[in-house]
Amino acid sequence: MSVRYKRALLKLSGGALTGGRDVSLDPDTLEYIADEILGAVAEGLDLGVVIGGGNHFRGRQAGEWKLDRVTVDYMGMLGTAMNGLALADALVKKGAAPFVMSSFPMGEICAPYDRRRALKHIEKSVVIFIGGTGRPFFTTDTTAALRACEIGAEVLLKATDVDGIFDADPDGNPDAKLIPEISYVDVVKCNLPVMDATAAAMCMQNQLPLIIYNGTVPGNLYKIVNGERIGTLVG
Ligand code: UDP
Repeated sequence: MSVRYKRALLKLSGGALTGGRDVSLDPDTLEYIADEILGAVAEGLDLGVVIGGGNHFRGRQAGEWKLDRVTVDYMGMLGTAMNGLALADALVKKGAAPFVMSSFPMGEICAPYDRRRALKHIEKSVVIFIGGTGRPFFTTDTTAALRACEIGAEVLLKATDVDGIFDADPDGNPDAKLIPEISYVDVVKCNLPVMDATAAAMCMQNQLPLIIYNGTVPGNLYKIVNGERIGTLVG
C-alpha cells in the first residue's frame, strides 16, 4: 500500500555529510542534502532532522584515545551540534528558515529543546535536533526514535549509503537481495546492524515504522514522502 507521509523524522549520520571523503564535511554533499530535504518539504511534509556526530567523535573510541567514555560521548554530542549548524546554514542559503534545537543549552547558538516549540516550528519549517539525547551512553539513532515519538512522526527515515537491508552483505556480492520488509523482532533477533537495540526497542514499543533507504540517490526522499516504496520498511 502506498502511504503519503505528512510528518517524518529523518536521521542523518554524521558520516552522511562527508560524501565518503576523509573530511569532516563535504560542501557539495551538504548542498545535496539540503536540496533533498527541501524537495521533500516542498511536498507539504513536516520534517524533523536528527543529525549524528560520528564524523567527529564516537564514545566507543574512548579507549583508543585513552579518554573517559563519558567525556567522549559529550564530544560526540558536540559533534552533532557542529553538523546541525552546518546543515542549517546550507538550508538558509537556499532560502529556508530552519529551526535548530539542542538537547542541552547552547546560549545564543540555538534554542534549547522544547517539545511544544518544536511542534509549533515544524509546521512552518524544518526543525533540526542537535545534541543527541543530551545524555552519554546513547546514540543519535535513539535520539531519532525519541524525537520521532515526541513530535508524532508517522515514520522514521534513516538515510544510509546502501539501498536498505540485504539478506547478505551486498558489498561485492551480486546475489545479495534487498529485503523490502522486515519486523523489528527479526532485526533485533538477527542482530542486524540497522540501528542500536535501544532505538529499535523504542520504535517497536511505540509502533513507529522505520524506512532504511539510500540517501545518496537523488530524489529518494521525495519518492518516499510521496508514497513510493523504496528501501526496507521495518515495522
Ligand atoms: N552521543 C551520546 N548521547 C546521545 C547521542 C550521541 O553520548 O544521545 C555520542 C556518542 O558517543 C555517539 C556520538 O555522540 O557515538 C555520535 O553520535 P552517533 O554515533 O549516533 O552518530 P552517527 O554515527 O549517527 O554519526
